Amino acid sequence: MSERVIPLIDQRLVSQAAAIPPHPIPATGLLGDALGRPLRDLRISVTDRCNFRCSYCMPKDIFDKDYPYLPHSALLSFEEITRVARQFVAHGVQKIRLTGGEPLLRKNLDILIGQLAALRTVQGAPLDITLTTNGSLLARKASALKAAGLQRVTVSLDGLDDAVFRGMNDVDFPVTDVLQGIEAAQAAGLGPIKVNMVVKRGTNDHEIVPMARHFRGSGIVLRFIEFMDVGATNGWRMDEVLPSAEVVRRVHEAFPLVPLQASAPGETAERWAYADGAGEIGVISSVTQAFCRDCNRARLSTEGQLYLCLFATQGHDLRHLIRGGASDEELASAIAAIWQRRDDRYSELRASLPPEAAGGRRRVEMSYIGG
Ligand code: SAM
Ligand code: SF4
Ligand code: SF4
Repeated sequence: MSERVIPLIDQRLVSQAAAIPPHPIPATGLLGDALGRPLRDLRISVTDRCNFRCSYCMPKDIFDKDYPYLPHSALLSFEEITRVARQFVAHGVQKIRLTGGEPLLRKNLDILIGQLAALRTVQGAPLDITLTTNGSLLARKASALKAAGLQRVTVSLDGLDDAVFRGMNDVDFPVTDVLQGIEAAQAAGLGPIKVNMVVKRGTNDHEIVPMARHFRGSGIVLRFIEFMDVGATNGWRMDEVLPSAEVVRRVHEAFPLVPLQASAPGETAERWAYADGAGEIGVISSVTQAFCRDCNRARLSTEGQLYLCLFATQGHDLRHLIRGGASDEELASAIAAIWQRRDDRYSELRASLPPEAAGGRRRVEMSYIGG
């Protein structure tokens, strides 16, 4: 029987008020953290709610009808999100990913996308704006998202076998509807599309080769993600992690692969091309191979808490500054002071952590800060 870990405290409540530093820190686009890592990628969670209950993310027995989701008044408004995003961009952010929960559940999301699309990087270029979705509402929304300025989408899909997929999303949602969403996104020009598959040994690892076969030659990049010990509720166990090296071995046996160079520094996926030219796959080895050295990602929760690492135990509350009358310069300086102190590198340290820390009792949930 698998052991369920129940969180003892609500980690969302553990935060530190972001402080305005005594001297302004000018936004030069060149901000570095304590380990010299730049700030390039901002992930914004626009809702903590979801219409799926993937057991590795929002297990049904915890995220039930009594779960205390954030009230609407706690969420940053689109204007607040755009204002804070503008300060991040001034510090060097070039890419924004909208996530959640399920981001397409947030009403009028296209309005937010339009506002973010108007921002420019320090070099004067448009931002790379993308979104991660479970695909359930994509067929309906793809063209409006594209029209608003969204460039790309990443769709999560854990298998093609309907019974396996319905079991993993745990709300009996059919595969065909997600596939239709992917087609609609392709037709709308939201590409290159990525499909993320979380692999759990013994649950959906037999779907690896069928998924590779299905997406080969489609222009869609399939990426396999190791089941991670994020949050405190998903009952993570190392024996359910299928190492990426094994994923590559299985795909290679069916369809020979050759390694590709990383596309950008800080890129989370290791890339492999099909030797016959039918496209590429990626593997994200967040458990078996740490990639913290180049990690340039910041995460903004639905209620305006800044997280410096997916595995952080504490956020930095920016909302009290946003709603407390801080000027743009003060907000930008506060963000800079927080980033300059950042030394997080959880994945690299995981192996040497005591079981209590590595077991995830005190971490914030993925559905709250986004993936
Ligand atoms: N609901 C959207 C979705 O599923 O695409 C966006 C939010 S979801 C938290 C972002 C990504 O995190 C998804 O691709 C999901 O599969 C991944 N994810 C969630 N929990 C995970 C875990 N324990 N290990 C690895 N990936 C996980
Ligand atoms: Fe929802 Fe995405 Fe988490 Fe699944 S992974 S429960 S779709 S937020
Ligand atoms: Fe970045 Fe934290 Fe993941 Fe390391 S563990 S890659 S620092 S988010």
